[in-house]
Order: sequence, then structure tokens, then C-alpha cells
Amino acid sequence: MQAITKIICPNCGSPRAERLLLDGQLSRTQCRDCDYLFVKCQRTNRVVEAYAPGIDVGRSRQAILVRNSASFQS
Ligand SMILES: [Zn+2]
Repeated sequence: MQAITKIICPNCGSPRAERLLLDGQLSRTQCRDCDYLFVKCQRTNRVVEAYAPGIDVGRSRQAILVRNSASFQS
């Protein structure tokens, strides 16, 4: 079962981006206008795949890991 939610692209601001929920576990955000791609596992909260033209994906992924470890400690 797939659930598709229309969202505004966090990279380019296009209203045509969409978020798909795959198998109730993987959240896949994609934008056709700028090739933005973000796949996250809802169960483990881990980033599976991330790609965004024009921004430093590695840095944002690091920020997410830092946020996760902070909530893990508390
Ligand atoms: Zn976009």
C-alpha cells in the first residue's frame, strides 16, 4: 500500500514535490523539478538515501545523526 502526500520541496520550494510512504516504513520524498531525493526509514529513523542538487547533503545528514543521538541519550 502506498500513500502519497503532496508537499512543498524543501530544496527548491516547488509545490509539486511528493512524499511516498512505502510499506509503512520507508518515507521517500522526491521532487521532479530539482531532482531532490530523500529516503528515510520511519522505523529506525535512519536516512537511507539522500540527494539534493545545490546543497550539502552530507552536512544535513550529519545534523540528523547528531539530533538522533541527542534524543537517544535523554
Ligand atoms: Zn525541488
